Amino acid sequence: MSERLPIITGNWKMHRDHLEAIQLVQKLAYHLEGADYVGQEVVLCPPFIALRSVQTLLQSDRLPMKLGAQTCHDQDEGAFTGEISVPMLERLDVSYVLAGHSERRELFGETDEVVNAKVKAIRKGGLRPILCVGESLEERESGRAVDVVTEQLRGSLAGVSVTDPQDLVVAYEPVWAIGTGRTATPDDAQEMCAAVRAELGSILGEPTADHVRVQYGGSVKPGNIRTLMAEPDIDGALVGGASLSSEDFALIVAHRRTNA
Ligand code: PEP
Repeated sequence: MSERLPIITGNWKMHRDHLEAIQLVQKLAYHLEGADYVGQEVVLCPPFIALRSVQTLLQSDRLPMKLGAQTCHDQDEGAFTGEISVPMLERLDVSYVLAGHSERRELFGETDEVVNAKVKAIRKGGLRPILCVGESLEERESGRAVDVVTEQLRGSLAGVSVTDPQDLVVAYEPVWAIGTGRTATPDDAQEMCAAVRAELGSILGEPTADHVRVQYGGSVKPGNIRTLMAEPDIDGALVGGASLSSEDFALIVAHRRTNA
């Protein structure tokens, strides 16, 4: 098995204005002081309007966290009112961009084709996509979870070439576990993350797939992070609600040292 750098991402969704964002990062830095989170990546995805203030704070306080965006447009510029492009994000030192989060798919009609165009734009701009895939409760209960996720991966990664496996992260997020307090069992999460990796093997080739990081997302909390991270195919977590609490997110990030 290969070494894969663990990656913990906080998705703040449409929470926190730019002032609250600064406070949240400052508190997080306080809770993480002296904690052991070297040897893993920590990515913060605030709303667009807070990216600049968080970028400035991370830089001025030399905080070892990276910046992520929650979505992007697939064009570099143009008459797309309200949209933000990858080159704009790159200028703000954004390293990662979420693509295909289930809320974007469900609430904003993003199809695999749309997600695919965004993944290509993110790669073209030199940033790293965190590609989100996951089945609904109905799809899980009808035994189609693996098929659904396979189709999302194939559609979203069509024509995408990945030479450095660090350049792609896949987040397996069962829709029924997002924001519901209902987490997949470590066994179920492992089974699905292994299925994701197997499918990545047929899309990108096994050597690449073996090094791509696969996150689990869906009601990750300080109390369940350790058992999830102990699974062989889970290389990190995409955290929504708990990333808005500096204490909880710090416990999740520093899970190797805490007894949460
Ligand atoms: C998410 O938004 O990607 C997510 C996993 O949310 P939560 O942790 O709140 O379930």
